Amino acid sequence: MTLTRPTFPAPDHDHDRCTADGIDHAERVCQQKSQKFTPIRRHVLQALLSSHRPLGAYEVIEELAKLMPRPAPITVYRALEFLIENGLVHRIESRNAYLACAHDHDAAALVAFLICEACGSVGEIPAASVAQSLSAAARASGFAPKLSVVEITGVCAHCQNK
Ligand SMILES: [Zn+2]
Ligand SMILES: [Zn+2]
Ligand SMILES: [Zn+2]
Repeated sequence: MTLTRPTFPAPDHDHDRCTADGIDHAERVCQQKSQKFTPIRRHVLQALLSSHRPLGAYEVIEELAKLMPRPAPITVYRALEFLIENGLVHRIESRNAYLACAHDHDAAALVAFLICEACGSVGEIPAASVAQSLSAAARASGFAPKLSVVEITGVCAHCQNK
């Protein structure tokens, strides 16, 4: 559904639209899977949807503390876990941070994260074929790979043009 959207939206894009689409997508996914989209899960996702930069768990807590009594870290971690299990959030390992995902991809599909070092935005692109060749190369050396993430740092097109 959001596949036509650019990997890195222009700085002046209608971000309210991204937020609304992200919440709609989450509602649909939870309904399809008969999962409860509880208020805390919704608030955590909303905090992550506030920009295209991934947030650390404590930044999520800070965001939530603006709207409600400060939630306990365990509450936020549980909500993040739920969102990750249901393919609504990705963990960006190298940043120890979380990124909302409104792409309609398989939860097991391998994606590559493009991390802009200038603005901090993270875009995701499908990376199944890359993953296959990396896994094949690892297996060829007798290694049993458990490939789950590909993260690439660099500079996004918008920051390059600045
Ligand atoms: Zn946006
Ligand atoms: Zn994704
Ligand atoms: Zn950038």
